[in-house]
Amino acid sequence: MSQAKLTVGLHSDTKQLIHIQNAARGLACNCICPKCNSQLVAKKGAKTTHHFAHHSTEECEGSWETALHLYAKQLLMNAQEVTIPQILIKRTRRADVLIQDAQVYKFEGLILEKSYTHFQPDASITEPHQLFVEFAVTHFSEPEKIVKLKDYGVSTIEVDLSKTPFELSQSELDQYILHDAPREWLHSVKLGIELERIRAKEKEDAEKAAIEETIRAQKAKDKHAEEMATQFLAFQKIWKTPYKPPEEVFPKWWNPIQTLKNNRIYIGTYQPSSPFLFEVEPRVWQAAIVDAFILKRIREGQYKHSTRHFNADIIFHWLLDRKLLPSLFSVYYDADHILDYANSFGHFGDGPYADTQNFLIHLERQKLIWEDNKGNYRLSKFHHALNKYASRYPSKP
Ligand SMILES: [Zn+2]
Repeated sequence: MSQAKLTVGLHSDTKQLIHIQNAARGLACNCICPKCNSQLVAKKGAKTTHHFAHHSTEECEGSWETALHLYAKQLLMNAQEVTIPQILIKRTRRADVLIQDAQVYKFEGLILEKSYTHFQPDASITEPHQLFVEFAVTHFSEPEKIVKLKDYGVSTIEVDLSKTPFELSQSELDQYILHDAPREWLHSVKLGIELERIRAKEKEDAEKAAIEETIRAQKAKDKHAEEMATQFLAFQKIWKTPYKPPEEVFPKWWNPIQTLKNNRIYIGTYQPSSPFLFEVEPRVWQAAIVDAFILKRIREGQYKHSTRHFNADIIFHWLLDRKLLPSLFSVYYDADHILDYANSFGHFGDGPYADTQNFLIHLERQKLIWEDNKGNYRLSKFHHALNKYASRYPSKP
């Protein structure tokens, strides 16, 4: 590999770095090595690339790199323009977002080697916008330095000059340093702002999506409620068809009702608000409840066990199990919203659950049961009067 030759020298009088192209031939170049300060001789022959050579000393190590770094800073100062790379947001699962294309940045104020608390950029551009420029020839910015730059909050680019060909003419070298060499953002204020904006946008979108999902779910719920209402309407239709007399269909439950009636206890007088949402007419399911939860217990002497109680939940599920209620209520008996919806289609009342609760209150008023402070019912002392009637019609298990 051919050793890089020094094509930039430091002019002794002007203290400016000059390209070999502009140097006088031989010692008349009046240049020294920017690294070791030895006198240079300009070799401008026909055979090799024009270059500077150390006149009376050995070629020193790294003179080209040192000269290039100094030359780049001097060039930037004089040219007052530099290409800044594109600002791009890289995203893994979505398309990258281009914030700003690569462009030539023309500036006015520039300070070289200005020291800040924790770092000293090669060039600090002050006008029109603050920008730090780093020229990397032999070493690149360490991660710790980049963190400090971010903390400091000034946009910074790093121009990679490590692969600069030494054979370039001056105009080619200038073009390379100012515009063509690879460069990247160590820190971009604009990128930070854009990232913040995009994050805010994404958050907003996510919130919007959540709201849409809620609306969608509500619509699905409403649709379901509409289907329920259709079923309710079907039940209503059935209800309008006269039932057979209950004493024919349900003698087992009907007989105790007659017994109670003879004893001036009227359970069939309770009018439910949603009669057609039951599978049977009101007198039948009411008789069934009285038989199973009151008369049967009296017969079996369970009233003695004061811990044995029941409530609207227990009775409601019992009605479901015995198919005295449509099975759809096994899931939706407490869904007020479905009943509300159904009620917008026609009169469906408060629903069978509320009817069950109210029927228990009705029984309490008749002093057959009493409610404790936890909403549970127990048989009242009144059962003694009923005992003989109840035993006359033993129900089958
Ligand atoms: Zn030297």
